[in-house]
Amino acid sequence: MGIFNEAQKYIVGGVNSPVRAFKSVGGEPPFIEKGKGAYIWDIEGNRYLDYIQSWGPLIFGHCDSNIEEAIIEAVKKGVSFGAPTKVEVDLAKEVLELFPHLDLIRFVNSGTEATMSAIRLARGYTGKDDIIKFEGCYHGHSDSLLVSAGSGAATFGVPSSPGVPADFTKHTLLAKYNDLESVKKCFEKGDVGCVIIEPIAGNMSLVPGEKEFLEGLRDLCNHYGAVLIFDEVMSGFRAGLRGSYDVYGIKADIVTFGKVIGGGMPVGAFAGKKEIMEKLSPVGPVYQAGTLSGNPVAMSAGLATIKKLKANPEIYKNLEEKAKKLMEEFEKISKENGIDFTYNVVGSMFGFFFNPKKPENFDDVNKSDTKRYAKFHNKMLKEGFYFAPSAYETGFICTPMSDEDIQNTINTYKKIANEI
Ligand SMILES: *Cc1c(COP(=O)(O)O)cnc(C)c1O
Repeated sequence: MGIFNEAQKYIVGGVNSPVRAFKSVGGEPPFIEKGKGAYIWDIEGNRYLDYIQSWGPLIFGHCDSNIEEAIIEAVKKGVSFGAPTKVEVDLAKEVLELFPHLDLIRFVNSGTEATMSAIRLARGYTGKDDIIKFEGCYHGHSDSLLVSAGSGAATFGVPSSPGVPADFTKHTLLAKYNDLESVKKCFEKGDVGCVIIEPIAGNMSLVPGEKEFLEGLRDLCNHYGAVLIFDEVMSGFRAGLRGSYDVYGIKADIVTFGKVIGGGMPVGAFAGKKEIMEKLSPVGPVYQAGTLSGNPVAMSAGLATIKKLKANPEIYKNLEEKAKKLMEEFEKISKENGIDFTYNVVGSMFGFFFNPKKPENFDDVNKSDTKRYAKFHNKMLKEGFYFAPSAYETGFICTPMSDEDIQNTINTYKKIANEI
């Protein structure tokens, strides 16, 4: 029996996170044995160039020696205490130093926890229950945020999930990405305590927010006394060292982090202005807690990652050049083969669409040819290139990815383009 069949006997769908099951692209997912640098190997010994990188965290690739060493040293001292440790303070300092508008931070174990807790805090701080989220933005799988949630959910055509009571989501107002008028309507309709957005949306493939739109959001939040939450679980330390702040210079009231901040270990965080963060327990009344939060092994991996990024801020330019090269050549090849193709690149992130129009929102994204994406995915995988198994995901470049790796990817797309 194949391992995927065996997995399905014991684990729901054979996977512990749905997109991994390859349902939207067909075929069976390779089971991964190990990784090194830009590559991963499956248990049958096939090698792949990895454009997923654990869905974003591994900006330095697999088994980076500094991160590996930090983890091993931490493990030797004990894997968890449930008591404060110095490494939490060190990581907090390193992160906050980057953002003049963020005073205090709280570490959690996942991006889902970070956004869920940030929403609770924003509601507690403003005393207002309604929140605005955007179609196609994903903020993890907590109840009030699982409405028109992009990627995983969109892949399965389940915009919101059974098991989430309508009573819970009636406070979630849906607006259209890059459309300020739709946000104004939500503000007029509800008693809005916060707006949560991916300023660089990475869960409907990659759709960056327009600068005027994001500035408009900032103004509306100021006007209505609502908390602006930038969910940078993906874009943080990926779009640039300071995430969207490097791109737009817009100051959100709360920023959520995940993925890169843990260097591949389970870490999430939310940080914000003192006045808001001090509403959080134990200083304030808004409850939030976690047995393994601030875990020393995970914090050590995060600390090694953030320190290395801060010591090498020039990497982002190089990663962006590689992403651009890949996308520009893909576009040329697509044109030669009569394939509609548009793309976006921000820092180390890239997203492309088999679509004649470059999407500005989720409706546009949904007009992309996902059948063609499935064919692209299957053929590239067979050739040893591991792209996300869904047209709704963002791709990532990591530092060990060489010009030759990029060129090999381009050559391979050239080879298979007339078959998709
Ligand atoms: C991945 C992601 C999350 C959820 O993080 P998990 O660690 O998977 O819970 C939340 N928001 C954004 C923008 C993400 O990309």
